[in-house]
Amino acid sequence: MEYARKLVRKERSLLVIAEEVEKKIAELGGKPAFPVNLSVNEVAAHFTPDVDRDYELKEGDLVKVDVGIHVDGYICDRAFTVCVGKSTHPMIKACENALKKALKKVKPGVKVCEISEVVEEEVRKNGYVPIINLCGHGLERYKTHAEPTIPNVKNNITYELKEGEAIAIEVFVTDGSGWVKESRPSLIFRFLEEKFTRSPEARKILSLAKEEFNGLPFAKRWLRKHIQSNLKLELALKELVEVGALKEYPILKEESSGLVAQAEETVIV
Ligand code: MN
Ligand code: MN
Repeated sequence: MEYARKLVRKERSLLVIAEEVEKKIAELGGKPAFPVNLSVNEVAAHFTPDVDRDYELKEGDLVKVDVGIHVDGYICDRAFTVCVGKSTHPMIKACENALKKALKKVKPGVKVCEISEVVEEEVRKNGYVPIINLCGHGLERYKTHAEPTIPNVKNNITYELKEGEAIAIEVFVTDGSGWVKESRPSLIFRFLEEKFTRSPEARKILSLAKEEFNGLPFAKRWLRKHIQSNLKLELALKELVEVGALKEYPILKEESSGLVAQAEETVIV
């Protein structure tokens, strides 16, 4: 996270940042639990750059850096937000404060709704809106999203946190409407189930998805060294999603194009 933070600067390419961070993860002895997500401004999540989907950072950009690392399938999922060229931004502060307060509540027996309440109150106190359809979550071995779901808005979830359980508290704050909507193309995918496919490229991707990426989310970008033709790669991914062999993760944008900040931490209860 420290290394990644230093890379997020004016005129840097998102593709270079993502690849450098993923290289660093390997150097430190981990593997990516999902591709490094670098979502800018109104994009809230699920954007990872690609050779044909790169972007050069500009002063004032609000960049969410979301990194997942696993060791033997045990996952840590964390995120922070940087305002390019500035030391901070009021939205980032609101987000970090809400995360800090929520983390203080975490202990065995605490109900999910109690954590959500703290998050929403802190965010609103600072004049912002929590994103309704993005949530914190449990983490299991080789599973990035498990029970419980931890919303950022008040709710009636009475699930009680258990000692030893791994959870990610993930706060999203906006100055927009508070909803994200899906936007294509998808740049991130995950193995769902074995299906028959006609193209050799699709079979190759499915085997990588299962074996090499351990059923965890992967980037289209990661497949380029295996499949050189962009057209073949896109057709194979489309086929795999259509037959239900892969799940796609569409890019998530704030519905009213509001700016979005994110702060996330993984803890063991
Ligand atoms: Mn995350
Ligand atoms: Mn997460």
